[in-house]
Amino acid sequence: MNFPCTSCGACCRHLPPHSALNAGDGRCVHLDAVTQRCGVYAQRPLICRVDDLYQQRLSSKLTPRVYYLVQAEGCVALDARNQQMPDAVREQLAAEQGGVRPDLLTEEELHQGLQVVLTEAAPLVARM
Ligand code: SF4
Ligand code: SF4
Repeated sequence: MNFPCTSCGACCRHLPPHSALNAGDGRCVHLDAVTQRCGVYAQRPLICRVDDLYQQRLSSKLTPRVYYLVQAEGCVALDARNQQMPDAVREQLAAEQGGVRPDLLTEEELHQGLQVVLTEAAPLVARM
């Protein structure tokens, strides 16, 4: 699926403290201060590639619905302007899978899916 990223840049301004790319204030050292865009976009790490991360590491562990809605909730948590992200993901899933808009995640699905994503992401974040 193509994740409907809004390019808000919030995930690039809230890196974990232990990330090697953290400039010290949560911002990524590759985030362009003027354009607020990634300065190494074509070579950005796997953890920054929502679709590639799913294909390479998580497609055998989570359904597209759970994975992409977990990611969408992360975007909402980082920036309130992304409130529509879960609905955008549901629309995208319906369009690409030729079906009905899937349901939002239950609290349990969100919690379990998040744990799987975080477990897979942890070593990638440490190596960022
Ligand atoms: S927080 Fe979400 S919507 Fe914003 S740039 Fe990151 S992935 Fe895209
Ligand atoms: S390397 Fe990743 S976190 Fe850093 S600016 Fe690029 S996309 Fe954002």
